[in-house]
Amino acid sequence: MACPFFMPVRKSEDGVWQHPSRLPLGCGWTGFCCAPGHEGVQPTDEELRSFCNLGYATNCPRLPKERPCDAVRFGVARDTGSQLLLLFVCEAGHLPTTHGTLEYDLSSGRWILSHADPQIQKMAECYLESYLLRRIPSPQAGSCPKETHDSSTYEAK
Ligand code: SF4
Repeated sequence: MACPFFMPVRKSEDGVWQHPSRLPLGCGWTGFCCAPGHEGVQPTDEELRSFCNLGYATNCPRLPKERPCDAVRFGVARDTGSQLLLLFVCEAGHLPTTHGTLEYDLSSGRWILSHADPQIQKMAECYLESYLLRRIPSPQAGSCPKETHDSSTYEAK
């Protein structure tokens, strides 16, 4: 689960992630904070590792006391080969507050259904990018992620 105020920008080159594919956004990401009063702040590597990429960042000094949720998680609900259905869940106190689905068309490379919140949409794009790198290994995949097991994949009911 990632912090709801995290705006991921690019994959982290930091090699400290032990199981990158198990991270909420499919691997470690660098980016910036969008918490009120801290917009655009670049968190430290330690903050990225301990807070931004993981959510429930109650020890983060930038985390607002009043917030809609503590973390956002994603999973693949369905992968037909040409279309992907992503599930997102926003949590507070380890309980879901909002959830929904997003749809991506692989053949056209376009979102059919995107999220209205640009941060959550950006997180979904990062998650999708990481998922596709695992699904279709390519030289550009680099070292992140290496694993092929998608522990956060959901089966559609
Ligand atoms: S964990 Fe802290 S620094 Fe990182 S995005 Fe959330 S509020 Fe900002």
